[in-house]
Amino acid sequence: MIKNQEFSLSCPFPIQNYPHVLLAHGGGGRFMHQLIEKMFLAGFENPVLLQRHDAAILNRPSARIAFTTDSYVISPLFFPGGNIGDLAVNGTVNDLAMAGARPLYLSSGFILEEGLAMDTLWRVIDSMRKACQKAGVFIVTGDTKVVGKGKGDGIFINTAGIGVIEHDLTIGPLAVRDGDAIIVNGDLGAHGMAIMAQRESLSFESAIESDTAPLADMVLDLIAHKINVHCLRDLTRGGLASALNEIVMVSKTKMQIVENAIPVREDVASACEMLGLDPLYVANEGRMVAFVPADEADQTVDVMRRHPQGQGACIIGHVSLSDQPLVVMKSKIGAHRIIDMISGEQLPRIC
Ligand code: MG
Repeated sequence: MIKNQEFSLSCPFPIQNYPHVLLAHGGGGRFMHQLIEKMFLAGFENPVLLQRHDAAILNRPSARIAFTTDSYVISPLFFPGGNIGDLAVNGTVNDLAMAGARPLYLSSGFILEEGLAMDTLWRVIDSMRKACQKAGVFIVTGDTKVVGKGKGDGIFINTAGIGVIEHDLTIGPLAVRDGDAIIVNGDLGAHGMAIMAQRESLSFESAIESDTAPLADMVLDLIAHKINVHCLRDLTRGGLASALNEIVMVSKTKMQIVENAIPVREDVASACEMLGLDPLYVANEGRMVAFVPADEADQTVDVMRRHPQGQGACIIGHVSLSDQPLVVMKSKIGAHRIIDMISGEQLPRIC
């Protein structure tokens, strides 16, 4: 097993010579070699990466593995509570966690725009390094390309991840059952509104911070407590509403949620109102929904609440059988409203 190193680094690149990314930094020659050695290898240092091989060579786990990939194109690159770098680590870690896997290894592909400040790149690398430490994962392989000025938007990142499934549960939409409790791990909408507040220059008493966080540790806690987790989904693009709709379509069930039970912070709710957005559809980067048997719901909430990422955990509804896949919400005034899949893109470049 590789050991994480805990120390803080300052930018090691001779940025006085090359303060910005040049096309040559993606050209395969001396400049690219320097960028890889001084920035990526220095930032992500671990024994697998230091083999400097075309492919990472990993030991084969004895159990099932989970494998996922995601691309990050968020704008702006830096926002209250995070940046594209920790998002690119946490997002992929969370997709592995939603399969009940322990995340182990990530790849990281960078598409850099010519002219990007080397210091900006370093800040992103440094926060990826810290996010990896926090989540207990290692970047073991990667790639860098540089595109011409105006052909990118600073930095795009793709991360793929491998995790190992160390239990016998098969967690996924097909395992959702009649009567399952629907649980979220905290308040919704903060990530999306942190980005939108910055883009629209909305100001509040204190800035809304993104909820970006790794969820694997909390999920593994649930499994360690023998909770029969049926399904998990992180509430990223499209928010809670889209996640529930995706799952009812696969599980052929009906979901009933209660508006009063769904936690939304007051500042997030008023930002949503100002911009005409519904917090149920707004992206989160550290929030998930869990489906568990009703008689394990209270214990699930207890276990989540003992974890830093689950302090706002609560039950928001339940699953019932239905001929027609449907998500229905009992509103604050007691009316029933159908929660549909969103049509089109509500918030572009949110992750
Ligand atoms: Mg996901």
